[in-house]
Amino acid sequence: MASRPLIFNIQRFSTHDGPGIRTTVFFKGCPLRCAWCHNPESQSFAPQLMVDEDRCVSCSMCLAACSQAAIARDAAGRVRTDRARCIACGACVDFCPEDVRELAGSPAPSAAELAERLLADRMFFERSGGGVTLSGGECLVQDIDYLEGLCRTLHDEGVHVAIDTCGFAPRGHIERLLPYADLWLYDLKVLDDEVHRRVTGVSNEPILDNLAFLARSGAVVEIRVPVVHPVNDSEEAMRALAACVTERVGAPRVSLLPYHTTGTGKYRRLGIEPGQEAFCAPSAEQMDRLVHMLVEQGLTDVGLGG
Ligand code: SF4
Ligand code: SF4
Repeated sequence: MASRPLIFNIQRFSTHDGPGIRTTVFFKGCPLRCAWCHNPESQSFAPQLMVDEDRCVSCSMCLAACSQAAIARDAAGRVRTDRARCIACGACVDFCPEDVRELAGSPAPSAAELAERLLADRMFFERSGGGVTLSGGECLVQDIDYLEGLCRTLHDEGVHVAIDTCGFAPRGHIERLLPYADLWLYDLKVLDDEVHRRVTGVSNEPILDNLAFLARSGAVVEIRVPVVHPVNDSEEAMRALAACVTERVGAPRVSLLPYHTTGTGKYRRLGIEPGQEAFCAPSAEQMDRLVHMLVEQGLTDVGLGG
């Protein structure tokens, strides 16, 4: 029997997660820890409380809601949350008149209920050539019975299904979804395995093996590359990546996604420290150079995304 994953967002009318107008379901939990991650609330498999203390007016409305005594005033009279006591129950969220508190991650409805909710936007999908994208976190490491049931229902209803994945997932899960997925949005970061381990916490070997498997299976794949200085924006790193893609997949569509800093404030709201490594976005000229270079390497369908 399928167990319910956690979902931290359902984004309607998205135009960045595959063709047309889409609804993207963000599942919570990921086996990678990308050092530049702009959705840090997607990483843990557990619910997490996010508090924007900069906007807190210390009205104390949330204090009485907490059964764990995790919220208290400090010596200066400011209301603070003790993360060590917080069990992320979410009871304080609705008490805050300033919307300072937010719970990241709530149990998904049943696969049938979620499919029904997603199908409510079918008209937009049909008119725009869009559909549903399952994302994360990492959707492929969630309960596979749940995912298969959801994808099968959407597929049987004629909805285009895209899987947005980092590729670090059990092969058996990929096999189960192959019959129902129309598009695989496949993230590649950097080929050098030592660098990959340092910046993501895992080896890229299973990722590259799964990519080759998808290509052999005839799946439609779009490669997505977050371009992060100084990790992978050198010509050498991109040439290696291009050679790997052409060898394994041929000439799929490739989207280069420039690094951005929009997630920085989320680390603070989660009460966690971001990594110490400094990253920055490549310039527009650098991005253009990389696009041209990948085209010269035989990847004829290269664009900028993000
Ligand atoms: S999420 Fe629950 S435990 Fe945590 S501060 Fe709010 S009420 Fe207290
Ligand atoms: S209810 Fe909201 S604004 Fe008031 S003290 Fe709590 S977090 Fe701050």
